[in-house]
Amino acid sequence: MTTVTRFAPSPTGRLHVGNIRTALHNWMLARKNGGTFLLRIDDTDPERSREEYVEAIRADLAWLGIVPDGEERQSQRLAHYDAAFEALRAAGRVYPCYETQQELELKRKIRLGRGLPPIYDRGALELSEDDRAAKEAEGLAPHWRFKLDHDAPITWDDGVRGAQKFDPAQLSDPVIRRADGSWLYMLPSAVDDLDMGVTHVLRGEDHVSNTAVQIQMFTAFIAAQYVAQHVPAFAHEALLVGKEGKLSKRLGSLGCDAFRDKGIEPQALVALLARLGTALPVEPIAETAALVETFDLGTFGRAPAKFDEAELERINTALVHQMEFADVAGRLPEGMDEAGWHAVRPNLSHVDEAGEWWRLVTGPIEPRSFEAEDRAYLAQAAEELDWGEDPWRALTGALKEKTGRKGKALFLPLRQALTGMDHGPDMGELLPLIGEARARERLEAAAQG
Ligand code: GLU
Repeated sequence: MTTVTRFAPSPTGRLHVGNIRTALHNWMLARKNGGTFLLRIDDTDPERSREEYVEAIRADLAWLGIVPDGEERQSQRLAHYDAAFEALRAAGRVYPCYETQQELELKRKIRLGRGLPPIYDRGALELSEDDRAAKEAEGLAPHWRFKLDHDAPITWDDGVRGAQKFDPAQLSDPVIRRADGSWLYMLPSAVDDLDMGVTHVLRGEDHVSNTAVQIQMFTAFIAAQYVAQHVPAFAHEALLVGKEGKLSKRLGSLGCDAFRDKGIEPQALVALLARLGTALPVEPIAETAALVETFDLGTFGRAPAKFDEAELERINTALVHQMEFADVAGRLPEGMDEAGWHAVRPNLSHVDEAGEWWRLVTGPIEPRSFEAEDRAYLAQAAEELDWGEDPWRALTGALKEKTGRKGKALFLPLRQALTGMDHGPDMGELLPLIGEARARERLEAAAQG
C-alpha cells in the first residue's frame, strides 16, 4: 500500500517551528516510503482563516524545500462533511444539544466541585422528542455532538508512543458541528483522512485525545458504510520546547521569516528539525536525501524535544562552510566570484556576511598605524611583491629570508596592512583577489603611516 501522509495547518496564522517540524516529518515519511505527501488546508473556520496565510504556508514550505504532491482545502469539501454527518446521524452516532456556553460552564464547575472529571454529562440525550420540539419552537438551533461508544476501550499502537488505551467514558462526546452548521475540527479531519486514503497520521501529542475520538469516528463511518477504507496508523510526536525545557511562547512565533531574516539557511532548519527529539545525532547534513534515508519513527523519543537557537546557528555555520558557489551565487556581493566565495566562506556564519569580508578585497579598508620598525618592514614588503602563481607564499618566503622575521611578526603586519584587520580569511586565497596594484598601494600607504 502506498504511504499517504498529510500536513494539515489551519490558515489562521504563520507556520511556527513546531508546525514546520510536523510538516517536515510527514514529508520525510512519505518520501522514505516512496509515497505521497498532501498539504491539507484546514480552513473550515471562515472567521479566522485568511488567504494570505494560505499563501504564506505554501511559500514557507517551498522555502524549506518541502514540496507537496497535492493540495486539498476543507472549505471546498463541505458537501462531503454533510454526507458523512448524515451517515452518522442515521446510525445514531450524533445527537443535538441545546446548552448555552454558560450552562456548560456551570455543569463543568459543579462536576469539578464534586470531584468528577469535567466531561459532558450527556444531558441532551435525556431530552424527549417533545423537549426538542419545544426548544426549536423557542428558536433554539442545536449544536451536535458525536456519541462515543462506551462499551470498549479505544486502543491503538502509536508509532512513537507505543500501545495506547483510552476509556471512552472518561472523554466528553465532542461537539462536532456548531448551531450555525459550521464545522469544528474533529469530523472534517477524520472524513478527509479516510477520503484521501491517508495511511499515516503523524502529528503533535496535543492531538492524542483527538485520535481516540477520531478512531471511533473512523469505525462509525466504516460501520455506516460511508466509506470502506481502513483506519490510518497514528503517531504522535513529543512537543517541541525551548532549550530550558519549557513550552515557550517564543517558539510559537518563530517562523520561516524570522529564520530567514537571521540568515538561517532552510537546510539548517531542516537538518535540525529532522532529527531533534530522535535518537539520531543532529548533524549539519546538507543533503535532504540523506536525512530522508535515516528517517525512522522508531528513533523518536517520548521526551519533549528541546529547540535551541544556538544549536541551529552552529548547524547553519557548518552548512555555510560546505555551500558551493553555485548554491549562493545570486546572494553574493557584486563582483564576488568562485575564488572569492571560497576565500571568505570559512569565516562566515551566515551567507549575507560575505559582503563584509568582500570589502577587504574591494576596499576601502580600515587604515592602521604601525611602529617605525613595522613601517620599514611594510615598505620592504611593497618592494618584494612578486605577482606569480602564489603571491602570498612568494612574499612571505622572501621576507622571512631577508628580514629573519617569523610567525606573528612576519604575518600580522602584512595582514593588517593588506586588510585593515587582525583576523580574517586565508591570506593565500585573499591576496590574489586583492590584486597586485591594490596590494602595493595598501602596503605603501601603511609604510608611510
Ligand atoms: N488543523 C489541525 C491543526 O493544525 C490539524 C491537526 C491534524 O493533523 O489532524 O492542529
